[in-house]
Amino acid sequence: MATLIPALGACVSRMTTGERRLAERLEPSISNNKSSNMTQNLNQQNEAKKTPFCDSCAGIQRNWRGAPGHAELMQGVNRKEPRSHGQVTLTKYRCERCGTEWEYENNKVNLHAGWSVVGQS
Ligand SMILES: [Zn+2]
Repeated sequence: MATLIPALGACVSRMTTGERRLAERLEPSISNNKSSNMTQNLNQQNEAKKTPFCDSCAGIQRNWRGAPGHAELMQGVNRKEPRSHGQVTLTKYRCERCGTEWEYENNKVNLHAGWSVVGQS
């Protein structure tokens, strides 16, 4: 059977220099766009997966010092952790409604220490 579609190599050699230069310039930007879109989609999927929170947990303001927790959080163990200015206390909490495990960092010098999600059970 005869080959009707020419091989890519045959095409490239028949392209003018200008065409080839254009193709070379277009290709990287096209593949860059594709990969950044893919990363974005992946991030969105991860975000969606990470939020089986109950309403109360969803309402907790994360990484903000002094933000309140909610009534269904059961306090767990405390632990100390060294920070650049000294020790801070981290307290574990577990939500009785959705099972999200939280940690609250009591850090007087860091405005962005506070609630963070450490896991789910
Ligand atoms: Zn919850």
